[in-house]
Amino acid sequence: MIHRRFKSKHIFSLLTPHHTSPPEAEPIRSGTVYLVGAGPGHPDLVTRKAYRLIEQCDALVYDHLACPDALHWTRPTCAQYYVGKRAGAHSVPQEEIENLLVKLAREGKSVVRLKGGDPFIFGRGGEEAMRLREAGIAYEVVPAVTAALAAAAYAGIPLTHRSHSSALILLSGHEDPAKLERAIEWRVYAKLNATLCLYMAMTRLEYITSELLAGGMLPETPVAVVQNASYPEQRTCVTTVVKLVAEVKEHGLCAPAMVIIGPVASYAESLAWFEI
Ligand code: SAH
Repeated sequence: MIHRRFKSKHIFSLLTPHHTSPPEAEPIRSGTVYLVGAGPGHPDLVTRKAYRLIEQCDALVYDHLACPDALHWTRPTCAQYYVGKRAGAHSVPQEEIENLLVKLAREGKSVVRLKGGDPFIFGRGGEEAMRLREAGIAYEVVPAVTAALAAAAYAGIPLTHRSHSSALILLSGHEDPAKLERAIEWRVYAKLNATLCLYMAMTRLEYITSELLAGGMLPETPVAVVQNASYPEQRTCVTTVVKLVAEVKEHGLCAPAMVIIGPVASYAESLAWFEI
C-alpha cells in the first residue's frame, strides 16, 4: 500500500511542472570579469546567463565574432570596447586586451568579456582567465554553443551517429604563428573514424587535405563547409576531401566557416532545414 502511494506520488510529480518560473538569478558582481561565450551569432543561441550579464554589466569588451545583437542589450551607461580585428588591420594585441580587463575590474566595474562561440574553445579564454587569476581578480566563465556544434546543427549534420562516427575532434586549422608549422600532425587524424571539425582552416585547406590524404584518408570522404552558421546568410557546401579546395574556390567560401570532415557530413544533403 505504502509502496503504491509512493509510486503514484512520484508519477504525479513527473507530470506536474513544478518549476514554472526560471531559477532565481544571482546579481552581477562589481570588480568581476565574466568570460562569456555569445554562441555562433544567432541571438536565440545566447544562453540565459550570458543575456542577463550583458544586460547588467558596466563594461562590455567584445570581439568581431561575438553576436552583433548583444551590443543593443546593454544599459545606456555601459561602456563598450571593441577589441576585434578591424578591416585591413590587426586585432588588438592579447596583452592589451588583458590589461584592459584588469584595469576595468580594478575600477570596480562589472565586466563582460564577450567572445564568439565558447570562451574556452579556440577563444583564448584560458589565457585571459590565467591573467585575471594572477592579478587577483574574480572571474566567471560562461559556456556557450561553440561553432562546430552550431554549424552541424544548422546544416543538418549529426556529429556523432551510431553507424558512422562515435568520436568528435575539434581542431584549429590556423595555429599560433609562433608555433612550429607542423605542430598538428594532420596525418594522425586521417584514419581515426572520427568526425573532424576544423576551426580557422579556410586559408590552409590545401595543406590540410594533402596531409590527410597522405595519411590514408579516403579521397571520397565527405566534407561539409558551413559558412556563417546560424546567420541568415549561412551557406553550406557538401563535397569530398579530394575536391574540397576546388569547390571552396569555385563557390567563393571564406571565413568564418566550419569544415566538417567524415561520413556524417553527407547528411547535410538530406537533413538540411535552415537554408531551405
Ligand atoms: N570560440 C569560438 C571559436 C573562435 S575561432 C567558438 O567556440 O566557436 C574562430 C573560428 O570559429 C572561425 O574561423 C570559424 O572557423 C569558426 N566560427 C565562428 N563562428 C562561426 C560561424 N557562425 N559559422 C561558422 N564558423 C564559425
